[in-house]
Amino acid sequence: MSAILLDGAGVARQVYATLAPRIAALQRRGVRPGLAAVLAGDDPASRSYIRNKVRACAAAGLHSEVRDLPADCAEGAVLGIIDELNRSSNIHGIIVQLPLPRHLNGNRIVQSIRIEKDVDGFSWHNLGALVEGHPALVPCTPLGVIFMLDHAGIAIEGRHAVVIGRSNIVGKPLALLLISRGATVTVCNSRTPDIGTHTGMADIVIAAAGRPRLVRADMIREGAAVIDVGINRLPGGKLVGDVDFEGARARAGWISPVPGGVGPMTVAMLISNTVSAAERQAARSADSRRENGDAPDDLTGTA
Ligand code: NAD
Repeated sequence: MSAILLDGAGVARQVYATLAPRIAALQRRGVRPGLAAVLAGDDPASRSYIRNKVRACAAAGLHSEVRDLPADCAEGAVLGIIDELNRSSNIHGIIVQLPLPRHLNGNRIVQSIRIEKDVDGFSWHNLGALVEGHPALVPCTPLGVIFMLDHAGIAIEGRHAVVIGRSNIVGKPLALLLISRGATVTVCNSRTPDIGTHTGMADIVIAAAGRPRLVRADMIREGAAVIDVGINRLPGGKLVGDVDFEGARARAGWISPVPGGVGPMTVAMLISNTVSAAERQAARSADSRRENGDAPDDLTGTA
């Protein structure tokens, strides 16, 4: 048996196609969705992620800005930039590329982003809304994983899903989304004694640990869906996930590759969140103009 390949790049292209009319509708109202990325330091992986995001914005017709700060920047400088972006009417979404240099308080910085512009979904408000079951802006990687499962027609409700990794940006929000969709969820972490006893019983295995070859073929059930979130650079420079792809492919029912799996979905969900944020902000400013008795938006396409 050879698993069905979950082609994240292909699914992402379909996401962009469904976003295009929404972006065009915003532009007819004089709104070009805008994303700002705050980058501090010179971590090559972070720079490459930002390049991909900027490229995706340009391809989708979004405005983007990168605020590039030196590794030794003061926290006040970062907070000052976020304050300016929070107030900018050209910017509807703000992200802070993680990890930040160690001397910066990442939590304080991320929590300073206006909730409506928190397109990474990392604010306590947006994470709390997810816990509550009323998600607003949801973290992009978990959202991309769920989108990918749905797109492939992989059932979630009533299935047993094992998530490897419990970070605030991937593992935990992903577990919450799966729970809200009716899955029975097991979350493993680095102290779980034998993750194979859990993954071996799962219908869906999602690896998000950042450990190459952590999930081997003998650890998964025949026919399971295997989603590889991990991104690991091997000493020779090769990019791999957390799953032994070739081995697992022969046993799984579905498998996502690295690269070309969850990565492009994460970027597509970021663009999608930015468009949603722009729509909400445009609706709110139209409401407040109406309340003030100002002229409505020009919907004729000439704005
Ligand atoms: P993290 O380091 O914050 O968290 C890793 C988690 O994995 C921790 O909860 C840890 O307990 C767990 N873990 C580590 N070793 C383990 C082991 N041997 N067994 C079981 N659990 C183990 O990382 P993160 O930010 O959640 O990212 C996880 C991976 O996903 C990284 O490789 C990262 O690069 C990748 N990632 C990919 C995307 C994407 O778009 N594809 C997005 C975000 C993160």
